[in-house]
Amino acid sequence: MTEQHRFEFLGSDVVFDPAVVEPPSFIERDFPVTSLALDVSGTCNMNCIYCAESSTMPQRAVISNTILEKALDSFFSWSSGVLSIHVGSGEPLLNPSAVRTIGRRAREYEASTESTRISLHLTTNGTAFTGEVVNWLREDNWVIKISLDGNSRIHNHNRKDRQGRGTYERIENYVRALCDIPSFSTTSVLCHETDPAEVFYAISALGVQNIELVPVAVEYPSNLSLDEEDILNYKRFVAEYVKRIAEGESMPRLIRFMKKLQRVLGFGISRVPCGAGRNFLAVGPHGEFYPCFRFVGLDQYRLGDLTHGIGRERTREFALTAGRPYDARETCGKCWAAPLCGGPCFACSQLLFYRNGEPSPDYCGLVRADCEAAVWLAQTLRDEAPERLVELAGIHLGDL
Ligand code: SF4
Ligand code: SF4
Repeated sequence: MTEQHRFEFLGSDVVFDPAVVEPPSFIERDFPVTSLALDVSGTCNMNCIYCAESSTMPQRAVISNTILEKALDSFFSWSSGVLSIHVGSGEPLLNPSAVRTIGRRAREYEASTESTRISLHLTTNGTAFTGEVVNWLREDNWVIKISLDGNSRIHNHNRKDRQGRGTYERIENYVRALCDIPSFSTTSVLCHETDPAEVFYAISALGVQNIELVPVAVEYPSNLSLDEEDILNYKRFVAEYVKRIAEGESMPRLIRFMKKLQRVLGFGISRVPCGAGRNFLAVGPHGEFYPCFRFVGLDQYRLGDLTHGIGRERTREFALTAGRPYDARETCGKCWAAPLCGGPCFACSQLLFYRNGEPSPDYCGLVRADCEAAVWLAQTLRDEAPERLVELAGIHLGDL
């Protein structure tokens, strides 16, 4: 465990003791699979300047109805309780009938059992939306996340279709229209020299209430990666964001920051960033299992298949190597923010960056900026407005 972290924030001296929120040691076991990702289209209709998938994942086939149904049957037979299904690799809405099937089957299954609740998560570039598609997504209560990199200028520079045309104007009205769904969110990739404040406030002006900003994930070296000046810009942005919240302003939720705030309060702390390869698996087009959607098609990370079941030896091996907890990573072992961070994305640290499971400095720079801002905000509101702090962090007192 690292020592106390002392830092200056908005004119105050702040001390954070990581030991206070240190998660218990990770005990590996055969976790029940409660989250499933389905690679339904295997492809994308865009040509974004930073596409991580196209640099790390092979060409994939479209999932067949037989495999899709078999995957859903297996998932429902393995698991009960609180489950989730995710589509987000490639562009899922290039195979709308598969997404529709997943929604229908999930809601039918839920209605047939009292013990299971299923959340459905779609990440999309939004270009395949039609009024009809949006209607059935709403009907089946999908949690929708659209990739949107900011205003028209930034988005159209980054996110072009195969013909090289920007896509902002095609999705803008859908983004506005979906803002009435409380769970609706956007995700924006921050590249070198992108102003996070410009991105955040442009998206907020559309009415979006949940905004995710993520650093670009690319192979190193890359002129798209964030440098120290970009990290400083992000620090200034997040400091202004928490200052406005502390002054009582209502702001859209900055998703990754809010997770850090919850962890400062002791909620959701873990030595891994996600359940990939443990309680979360992805299914490839031929029914193969992988740790998550970013590993689909990579044989080295194959963890079994629908016919033979989950390969427990392979999942154990993944948990000890690419999926190891943060305390088994050299950089994270020395990082004061580790309990608030949970460690790097397994896929990004293994397939991109240095390809050795270590995180990238720009990713860590953004994480630590969020963590310092979260520690400051928690300390400020704890004294002045504790109920607001709990509400902001999305903690329901009745659940405690
Ligand atoms: S990924 Fe970076 S910020 Fe997160 S724990 Fe590891 S070193 Fe710290
Ligand atoms: S490994 Fe990375 S991409 Fe996969 S689920 Fe975890 S955080 Fe997400």
